[in-house]
Amino acid sequence: MSDVKLRCLGCGSTYGSDEVIYSCPKCGGLLEVSYEIPEISLKELSGALGVWRYRSFLPIRSKVPVTLDEGGTPLYSCPKLAKWARVKALYIKYEGANPTGSFKDRGMTLGVTKAVELGSKAVACASTGNTSASLSAYAARAGLVCYVILPAGKVAMGKLAQALMHGAKVISVKGNFDEALNLVMGLSIKMGIYLLNSINPWRLEGQKTLAFEVVEQLGRVPEFLSVPMGNCGNISAIWKGFKEFKESGISEELPRMYGVQAAGASPVVKMLRDGSEKLTPVVQPETLATAIRIGNPVNWPKAVDAIRSSNGLFDTVTDEEIISAQRLIACLEGIGVEPASAAAVAGVKKAAENGKMSADSEVVCVCTGHLLKDPEEVISVCGRPVEIPADLNRISEIVGDQK
Ligand SMILES: *Cc1c(COP(=O)(O)O)cnc(C)c1O
Ligand SMILES: [Zn+2]
Repeated sequence: MSDVKLRCLGCGSTYGSDEVIYSCPKCGGLLEVSYEIPEISLKELSGALGVWRYRSFLPIRSKVPVTLDEGGTPLYSCPKLAKWARVKALYIKYEGANPTGSFKDRGMTLGVTKAVELGSKAVACASTGNTSASLSAYAARAGLVCYVILPAGKVAMGKLAQALMHGAKVISVKGNFDEALNLVMGLSIKMGIYLLNSINPWRLEGQKTLAFEVVEQLGRVPEFLSVPMGNCGNISAIWKGFKEFKESGISEELPRMYGVQAAGASPVVKMLRDGSEKLTPVVQPETLATAIRIGNPVNWPKAVDAIRSSNGLFDTVTDEEIISAQRLIACLEGIGVEPASAAAVAGVKKAAENGKMSADSEVVCVCTGHLLKDPEEVISVCGRPVEIPADLNRISEIVGDQK
C-alpha cells in the first residue's frame, strides 16, 4: 500500500507510518492515518463480512493480522422500535456480537497488529471497561504483555472479568476515566509501552469498517447513523469509513451522523449547541452508562467535524431514557445491549419528537456492546427474580392458567 502517513489534523504536518506518536509533536493535534484510497468496486472485495474483508482499505504491512474474526456483526431490522420512535425504518448494527462483545475489537485487531509490526513487547490502555476487555484478549492472542488502567469502582463487572481472565495486569486508580487516560499516556511514553486508546489512529482504521459493512448489508448508505459518544473515536472512525467508500467510488452518498451523549457526560453536545470552537470538559461526568462516562473526550475535534460536515445531529439523553430504551430493545426486538448502546436508540426517539428526524427517516443505530457486560445494572433496573419453595401448587398460582 502506498503513501501511508500519519497526518496532523491541526497543522497538516505529516509523519511516517512507523513513528510511535499519539499526537502531533509540533502542535499537539490529533493524528489521522492517510493513504491512497483504492478505486475499487464491491465485486473486488473478497472474504466473509468482517474487518479483514476490507484489507485494501487497511494500510498496514502485516500479511498475518492478529485476529479473532471480528466484525461481520448483524444488522437487524427493528420494525417495532421504528414504530415506537416514529421513524420509517430503524436498524441496529449489533456490535455486541463481536468476539469480546463490543466494537472495540474492530480497532484492536488493527491496533495490536500494528503494535506487533512496530516490535512492541507491551501494550496499555485506560478504559471504562470494553477497551481493556478487548485489548487484553488481542494482547493474549499476540503474546504481548497488557497493562490496563481502570477508574476504580466504575467498571462494569463483565468487562473487568474479561480483562482479568485474559491475563492483563489490571490497575485501578482512584480517579475517573479522564484521569486514568492522562496517567496511561504519560506511562506509555515514559516506559515505552504501546498505547491503544482511541487517540491511537490505527485503532480507528479498524473501527471504520463498520461503515463498510452497513453499506453492504443495507445495500445503500442510510440517511442517519446514530452513535453513542464517549471518547468520540467511534463516530469519527465510522465517518471516515463512509467518506472512504465514497471516495473509492463504491457509494455515492454520505449519511448524516447523529452523536448522542449521556446528559451527565455531554461536553461535545454542549459545545455544538453553543456553536463554540473549543470544548469545555465536564469535570465530574456522571451516568449509569459507564462506557460513555467521559468528561474530556480526546477525539472531540474529529467528532465535531463528523457531525458538522455531515449536516448531522447531536443531543443528550437522560439515564431514564437510556434504561427505558435498553429494556425496549431487549423486550420488543430480542436484542441485548449495554446501557451506552441504548443511548443511540433513545436518541432517535428524541430526534423524531423534536422534528429533527421525520416520519420518513431511515436510521441505523450502532449498538456498541453486549447486555452481559453489565449484569449489575440489569439487576438494579429489573430487580431480582421471585424465589419460591419447590411446590407445583405454589408455582401454578404464580403463573396462572395459560390455556
Ligand atoms: C467505547 C464505547 C463507547 C464509546 O465509544 P467512543 O469511541 O469512546 O466514543 C460506547 N459504547 C460502548 C459499549 C463502548 O464500549
Ligand atoms: Zn500538528
